[in-house]
Amino acid sequence: MSEKKESSGNRWQRHVWQPHNYNNRTRLTTGTFLQSFCPHCDAELTHDDKLSLQVQNAAGERGILDLSPYLNNFTRETNIYLPEGERMQDVVCPHCKKSLIIQGETCEHGDSQVAGFIVGVGNTRVSFFICTKIGCHWHAMAADDSSRIMLEDSDEW
Ligand SMILES: [Zn+2]
Ligand SMILES: [Zn+2]
Repeated sequence: MSEKKESSGNRWQRHVWQPHNYNNRTRLTTGTFLQSFCPHCDAELTHDDKLSLQVQNAAGERGILDLSPYLNNFTRETNIYLPEGERMQDVVCPHCKKSLIIQGETCEHGDSQVAGFIVGVGNTRVSFFICTKIGCHWHAMAADDSSRIMLEDSDEW
């Protein structure tokens, strides 16, 4: 009888002392590889250590912008004219050609459009947003994903 009581007491304690959700958040550290996918056609955007997007510059030229797929690594390569500070007119999936621009959303600096894609983190997928202004390092996750995953800040911001 007393044995039974003890085990139910343990169960109660285990329940109460379960770590709070906040402490269960996965922390993505600088340098984490972000495997990225198109939100429209699900094609993988990352390949050969690059995150490739098709972009359109202010002059209307279309080309490829290769970004680093590693969190807080801001190296980029492109085959069109994209100087620092230029705002891309469009960012599209190289596979299905659909726009990745999120209508009505702006970077936290308020002056540039935002493009979004899907990032695989462990076995979950989250929405990831980047600024369309060349050289702006702003990026974020969807608010509901932020309760599960947090991004490590970069000193370069
Ligand atoms: Zn696509
Ligand atoms: Zn920005």
